[in-house]
Amino acid sequence: MAHHPLQVPRSSLLDALSWLEYAFQPAGVAAPDDAAYGHQRHSATVVMATDNLPPKSCESDAVIGEGSRPVAVYTADCLPVLFADTHSRQVAAVHAGLKGTLSGVLNSTIDRLLTLGAQTNTLHVAIGPAIGPCCYELGRNLVDEMQAQPGLPSLSWSETQPKNLRAIRPQAQPQQHGIWFDLPHLARGLLQQRGIPAAQIEVVEMCTYCMAESGSSYRYNTHFASGYQSRFSWIRCRD
Ligand SMILES: [Zn+2]
Repeated sequence: MAHHPLQVPRSSLLDALSWLEYAFQPAGVAAPDDAAYGHQRHSATVVMATDNLPPKSCESDAVIGEGSRPVAVYTADCLPVLFADTHSRQVAAVHAGLKGTLSGVLNSTIDRLLTLGAQTNTLHVAIGPAIGPCCYELGRNLVDEMQAQPGLPSLSWSETQPKNLRAIRPQAQPQQHGIWFDLPHLARGLLQQRGIPAAQIEVVEMCTYCMAESGSSYRYNTHFASGYQSRFSWIRCRD
């Protein structure tokens, strides 16, 4: 049987910050014992870590760190987005699928971090494993609606399915004569619109459908009923 070694996804931006620790854990691995994370609803709601102790104490899709406690999100195909501000030494973990991204969860996280002393020009953001444009088919009407929505940055999508040369299993089969949408690109655009420098935003390119360990993708499960498990991504300040 062919064996495909899996990379452990890392962010070189976050790796360079010695005052923090983070991980994009594989699917199915439990969150750190002391992590705070919300009951996620694809909303723009941001809370502090202590609001989610014990975990899932409240409905929220972004959690801001307090002290050295890890803050986490769980995802399948949605974007796990980790924020670190080098000026105020704050961290945040954000769950941003298409719905949450469009509802403004990245903006509301930035707003809250700024009120706590962060600066947009010192924010660093890593976008972790998520469904890639190689496997993320959307109906054309949805893209038309997004293009009509004021204030969104330019969208990236393709009529033809991009071939992913790094895939370790077959890419998603077309289901609806749709388009292939780049969700990480949309998140990057929104972050840049808010003034975060492009060089301080990193997309870890690992598609949960065709590149990550099995059980990573909600959509793969939809197609094959093979089951899926949450992927925890977390970040914390060191003691
Ligand atoms: Zn893919």
